[in-house]
Amino acid sequence: MRATLLFASLTVCGAVLLTAGASGAGPLNENGVRDAAQGIEKVLRKREKGARPEPAKIGDREFAYIRANLISTFYHEFAHALIDRLDLPVYGQEEDAADVLAVVMLDYQFGGAVVEEIAYLTAEGFRDEALEREDSGHDWIWADVHGPEWQRYYNFVCLYYGRYPERRRQFAEDTKLPVERAETCEDESALARRSWGAVLDRIKGTGDADGTIVFESRVRKGLHQRSAEVIRGEVERLNRFYTLPSLLRVTVRRCGQDSPLSAFYTSGRSRITICTEYISDLNRRAQAASDL
Ligand SMILES: [Zn+2]
Repeated sequence: MRATLLFASLTVCGAVLLTAGASGAGPLNENGVRDAAQGIEKVLRKREKGARPEPAKIGDREFAYIRANLISTFYHEFAHALIDRLDLPVYGQEEDAADVLAVVMLDYQFGGAVVEEIAYLTAEGFRDEALEREDSGHDWIWADVHGPEWQRYYNFVCLYYGRYPERRRQFAEDTKLPVERAETCEDESALARRSWGAVLDRIKGTGDADGTIVFESRVRKGLHQRSAEVIRGEVERLNRFYTLPSLLRVTVRRCGQDSPLSAFYTSGRSRITICTEYISDLNRRAQAASDL
């Protein structure tokens, strides 16, 4: 589902979880709304400061978490771009189809211990989102274009496990994939590869062109810059293997505190945007996990 935005349409993907609770909004007094707004601003600035990247404090484990979830999100957005640019039919929710490509691409692009680490940390990312919602006390918004977080988690785990069930039995155990679901994962994975594999075959490139995917970054330092380099690496990797029918731009930039989005695809402009707020949010989650 897309929201019309003037001449471009936006594929809505994920929310930055900056939930300013009532207790953090500042007291209402004679000055009413203005003070409340200032209170919210203050809280947001404080949170932004708290989430501000401090490279020296980011350990390998934390950055691996950020990297893995950025990569999976980028391939999710790449699916939206392919659906749009290739005019693909989608029989079901587009968001689900995008999640399926993201897991298929992991085995296309990575191997061995690298893909395993990305898979574990991506599953952890879905799980963290699900747990955050549970902790917040907010119910899932059933009208949302995405499936509920726990379902996205199990779909991801199932499709990754189903590619090599023998080799990935430990992964299924560690991620608590129920036996009943595990039984169908090999077939689900085969269908996912058959469906998206045919699409990827269509865009297989020679690798000798300049590349049909253009990377742009508006960040210059710290964790945001380091994370942008991860996306740059994936763009270069895609350009080596695939040629799109028209240019696709990939941008890493600040989306603004009012933006509820973490990453999105804009079809009218053929552009994937990864928000730096999302990177900060991943950092916050990674730091919280390492505190446990
Ligand atoms: Zn999406």
